[in-house]
Amino acid sequence: MRISEKECKSIMVKSKLPDADYVINPYVGCCHQCIYCYAQFMSRFTGHAGEQWGSYMDIKRGGELIKKDLSGKTVLLGSVTDPYNPLEKKYGATRQILQKLLRENTNANIEILTKSPLVVRDIDLLRQFDNIRIGISLSTMDAVFAKRIEKNVVSPQERVDAMKELHRNGIRVYAFVSPIFPLTDGWKQVVDQVREYADLICFENLNLRANYKYEVLEMIREFYPDKYDAYVSLYSNPGTLRAYWESLATEIGNYLGETAHKLYFFHDEIKKK
Ligand code: SF4
Repeated sequence: MRISEKECKSIMVKSKLPDADYVINPYVGCCHQCIYCYAQFMSRFTGHAGEQWGSYMDIKRGGELIKKDLSGKTVLLGSVTDPYNPLEKKYGATRQILQKLLRENTNANIEILTKSPLVVRDIDLLRQFDNIRIGISLSTMDAVFAKRIEKNVVSPQERVDAMKELHRNGIRVYAFVSPIFPLTDGWKQVVDQVREYADLICFENLNLRANYKYEVLEMIREFYPDKYDAYVSLYSNPGTLRAYWESLATEIGNYLGETAHKLYFFHDEIKKK
């Protein structure tokens, strides 16, 4: 892996995501190597055209916030990287940004999305924010399946343990069940494990984009051959796929019952809040 430190002018950019006004990505690239990574396209826009996603990481240094007063705005850390990827332990770029946000007293709603228990290292800082919420991302509790789809990420159980630790320290935490692999009950396994600790549970469907569709389908073919034909059929027919997600959204809603949990399928715009 090629690692370099880069000075940047601004660490924050405006966001088009539905739940964030601004995003901060303390790193360029990500070493977690998720098979379904939607962020791979970033190589083209960050001076890494032609380089394989996961083979490089830039650590952002310096940089200002776009605005100092961010009252009522949501700032998401980690839209196209994991802010607590393994490099964070040594380089601390995310910790420095949290310190800057605290110093600048921006009044923003801070949201951090990660798959790493390293986030608990920063509980001392997280507790100082008035409005902060940590999202822990996981698709399944099956450690073998998780390794197949997220090669360099810690086990789902370690992620749940991190969630418990955050919850125990009074920090709001949500489970981001993402992506849901169709025809599996991984989402149900996660709900059963986190229901007690999560302030919120969000869901995102598996969206097979051209650049990684082949890889995901090949993984299914190799390890879950009985599901392969069904996957190919689902993802070759947009109407059938949409009907599948709609039906699953109903099933998940029923499973959650009358709780405060939010159901949120980003890509198919099936939302219940
Ligand atoms: S953690 Fe997120 S950004 Fe990193 S490889 Fe996985 S999906 Fe991509």
